[in-house]
Amino acid sequence: MADEAPFVSAIERFGDSLPVGFVAQGTPIRQFVFGGLKGKLRKELLNARNMYRETIVGLKHALAQLGPLQPPPMSFVECIPACDAEYIQFLLSARRLKDGVFIIEVLCGDEDAGMVEGCGSALQAHVPAINVGFIEGNTPIQYHPQSGLPFQEISFKYPLSNGAQADASVKYRVATLKDQAEFVERAEAAAAVDRKKAGGGRRLRMGEFIFDQFASLMIDFNGSGRGLTVEELENLDLDMLDAFTNAMGNYHPPHVDLDVDIVCGQCKRTQRVELPIKRWLDPFVVRMPSGSSPEM
Ligand SMILES: [Zn+2]
Repeated sequence: MADEAPFVSAIERFGDSLPVGFVAQGTPIRQFVFGGLKGKLRKELLNARNMYRETIVGLKHALAQLGPLQPPPMSFVECIPACDAEYIQFLLSARRLKDGVFIIEVLCGDEDAGMVEGCGSALQAHVPAINVGFIEGNTPIQYHPQSGLPFQEISFKYPLSNGAQADASVKYRVATLKDQAEFVERAEAAAAVDRKKAGGGRRLRMGEFIFDQFASLMIDFNGSGRGLTVEELENLDLDMLDAFTNAMGNYHPPHVDLDVDIVCGQCKRTQRVELPIKRWLDPFVVRMPSGSSPEM
């Protein structure tokens, strides 16, 4: 990832505080305290409807305190930015590791992403948690005066019909755990409608999933005081929409760097794998590897 940026150890930089957090009734919510994990977690994970709800349930059990509240109510846990949830899970995993070292075992070429050549050798990497880095967001985090939720302002240029370029900007909320769960649930509901129709497929409607995300998280478009609806996004000039989606693709909130590059001793190929930060949720979170898209 951003190789030119100086290395920042995520744990040394943030310790027991959320990198982004949110604001509740004027109070920044950053500090957290882990409690003891209990067997009830397993039961409630089985009741969770999707991987995002599993994360919410998991963090509800793992956190004894968040900000001033002890224990944090579900509404608080749902407001945790998704990038912060990764940090919490990373830190919790790190504390449960023997000697604080992640051990990653993978076969050369065994990747999620499509067509990958590899020699099949067994690879192993040892990653001390303290050596895991943190990547800053592209633009500073701000907090919405009403909701207290974090957002970033993302600027981009789009082409005009006369060949010139114009500036545009959006204010875009950092997705929370609740946002993620609701994106999937709305997409599931749409897929259920498809199933009911004669001959309807059961595939997730990815177009609706993505446009729903854009519209749900955008809180301002070009200083208009509000974001665009799905319908307005659909009616946007294509070049403008493409410029916007391209800008969104290049943008990221602050996050712990979970990517690990392992070089194969046999074929010298470099393989990128993700730190296994969800092992503490095992054995029930085995449906899909972390970071992959939900299966529908
Ligand atoms: Zn190899």
